[in-house]
Amino acid sequence: METLNNEVTAQQKITETVGKFIGLIGKRLPDDVGKRLVELEKEEVAPLSKVVYQSMMDNQDKAMKLNRPSCQDTGVIQFFIKCGANFPFIGDLEEALTESVLEATKNAPLRHNSVETFDEYNTGKNIGKGTPSIFWDIVPNSDKLELDVYMAGGGCTLPGKSMVLMPSAGYEGITKFVLDVMTEYGINACPPLLVGVGVATSVETAAVLSKKALMRPIGSHNPNERAASMEKLLEDGINSIGLGPQGLSGKKSVMGVHIENTARHPSTIGVAVNTGCWSHRRGHIIFDKNLNYEITSHTGVSL
Ligand code: SF4
Repeated sequence: METLNNEVTAQQKITETVGKFIGLIGKRLPDDVGKRLVELEKEEVAPLSKVVYQSMMDNQDKAMKLNRPSCQDTGVIQFFIKCGANFPFIGDLEEALTESVLEATKNAPLRHNSVETFDEYNTGKNIGKGTPSIFWDIVPNSDKLELDVYMAGGGCTLPGKSMVLMPSAGYEGITKFVLDVMTEYGINACPPLLVGVGVATSVETAAVLSKKALMRPIGSHNPNERAASMEKLLEDGINSIGLGPQGLSGKKSVMGVHIENTARHPSTIGVAVNTGCWSHRRGHIIFDKNLNYEITSHTGVSL
């Protein structure tokens, strides 16, 4: 365990900073989500839709004023890590992040959401075997650490669906899969939804991409022109279902549709869908090699 100064180890510093960041994420939505909710409220005309959006805004104000979570389901904490191969504290990271969840559980506080499978008891700590979820990407020639921290709720992005289509199903098959999922269970999460779609080679590659798609800022587009065009077509299609806020009907169903993709085997099209809800609690933080940090998802925050 490396020491930053005489008193505080690097592991402690990461634990403390990320623990506080988790607490903040549970209360304050990221800037892009807040902005999109305001935009969507303006587009609705029905009084019921407007009232529901207003209650979401009130909820957010009160979460900050009363220091309470934005939603009672504070989810399973998931970390999507881009860690530089030269980040000096790489070896301490997994333990530091796990400890940060424990800290946030006590201090934020977070609901107890970790049940050990087969033994079927709640650990009461939000940590357990393989939990929190940590997804690693190692970045060559970098000494930085980039973290997407996400609260995955039981009604939104812990459910999800993935399958492998025959290649003849083509992009029409992907579209049908996505729309079938959205009309079957999309409403299970509280709309307006952020829809993540993974298009890849197998169930597991598509599934991870569909979740990573939800870490992208709202309003961003897939760099591939055709994929970006499909994002727009799917968004229009899902909006035409008319879910509206909280599924009580309205003009718009989604905050956006994000597709992430990789190459595929000629014989397969892996596809997956994951839906984030209106209380899409994620945060993005970057540490340098001295553990100075920058938060890009929430402006004006110091932990
Ligand atoms: S879908 Fe989202 S807002 Fe609705 S209960 Fe679950 S976490 Fe909360």
